[in-house]
Amino acid sequence: MLYQRSSALFKEAQQVIPGGVNSPVRAFKAVGGTPIFAKSAKGAYVYDEDGNRFIDYINSWGPMLLGHAFQPVVDAVIEKTKEGTSFGMPTALETEIAELAVSMVPNIDKIRFVNSGTEACMSAIRLARGYTKKDKIIKFAGCYHGHSDSFLIAAGSGAVTFGTPNSPGVTQGTAKDTLLATYNDIENVKSLVEANKGEIAAIIVEPVAGNMGCIPPVEGFLEGLRAVCDANDMLLIFDEVMTGFRLANGGVQELKGINADIVCFGKVVGGGLPVGAFASRNEVMNHLAPLGPVYQAGTLSGNPLAMAAGLAMLKAIKTDKGLMNRLEEKTKYLHNGIAEALNKNNVTHSINRIGSMISVHFSDEPVLDFESAAKGNNETFKKFFHGMLSKGIYIAPSAFETWFITDALTYQDLNETIAAVEEVAKEL
Ligand SMILES: *Cc1c(COP(=O)(O)O)cnc(C)c1O
Repeated sequence: MLYQRSSALFKEAQQVIPGGVNSPVRAFKAVGGTPIFAKSAKGAYVYDEDGNRFIDYINSWGPMLLGHAFQPVVDAVIEKTKEGTSFGMPTALETEIAELAVSMVPNIDKIRFVNSGTEACMSAIRLARGYTKKDKIIKFAGCYHGHSDSFLIAAGSGAVTFGTPNSPGVTQGTAKDTLLATYNDIENVKSLVEANKGEIAAIIVEPVAGNMGCIPPVEGFLEGLRAVCDANDMLLIFDEVMTGFRLANGGVQELKGINADIVCFGKVVGGGLPVGAFASRNEVMNHLAPLGPVYQAGTLSGNPLAMAAGLAMLKAIKTDKGLMNRLEEKTKYLHNGIAEALNKNNVTHSINRIGSMISVHFSDEPVLDFESAAKGNNETFKKFFHGMLSKGIYIAPSAFETWFITDALTYQDLNETIAAVEEVAKEL
């Protein structure tokens, strides 16, 4: 496969955009090589500037649950555009999508729309702090909640009691209010809470982790978080930016039957346009401006094009009763096929899967948290990534990412993918 035009475009982009990209993971730094410039996409396929076709397992990092250029979304956006692209005034459309979201997600009364998952999570934290009148939060190593300061925290030296900034520009003052815990380790959470009694506003968690590969919660983990929050007047924030409207219509709250206090959305909820949202019960949401004192705003929040795309997406998900099952069946088929292909070639691996999320780790240990995810063999991953790419299969350019299965994938696409894994595995 040739990437001449992508290479030229990347050179040009680097002159005027830092690293040539508007979001770092796109730059292929973790795997080496030149990023591929997308030109168009339809269904399960993305086409690059050189005319290559790829079966796409990134799907814009999640939003394209129903495939690229999904017709109802495309039509809705085109129609809306003709009526004006932004007003800075409330619209009927915002209420319509809010009503639909509230009807699909358990345990929420009100929802506020923003422009990204980052905004949703940072606003959720502010709301939790304002509501509980406490400052500290607990987050889990390896969970990603966007790029706002409070979340860019690394483990401190020695005992992991409080975090240190893991990006220049994040102040010590901010970092000291973020406590870092180990995913799937409820005892670790309990000891952090014990050591910071009365100071913690909230625990924020990806209820199914998707940003260190896919890591489902172990039995009792989410239940344990719920109990710890209840016992200590802390709010439980589910960051469902990745899992919302994907693992079930009502996200992980519905899937696992556990109530969060605040839920964050992004990705699927916008149908591929820049949308995020956070939601809760009345008693919490009523603390938000203009009803309450916690400030949050956005010039383009609830943008009509974005809301039209999101509404078309959510309607399609809600009305398609077989969707979640189909997605799970396809993902399971892929899992079995990949496992067989790797086993045949004696490639050490461990595969995690839930619903339409799956990740392949080149490790012989179960992957349960960030530490075990980091033990995967990155050199093997790099070879795997480039091997797959050369066979027209586009997976995320990092070993710490989930593959997103879209309903647009046919079993023929899956078979093609499995056949590619079998070929690539011979060289690993
Ligand atoms: C993608 C993601 C975010 C950040 O969303 P952006 O729209 O990129 O700001 C936050 N949390 C989770 C779980 C995500 O997967």
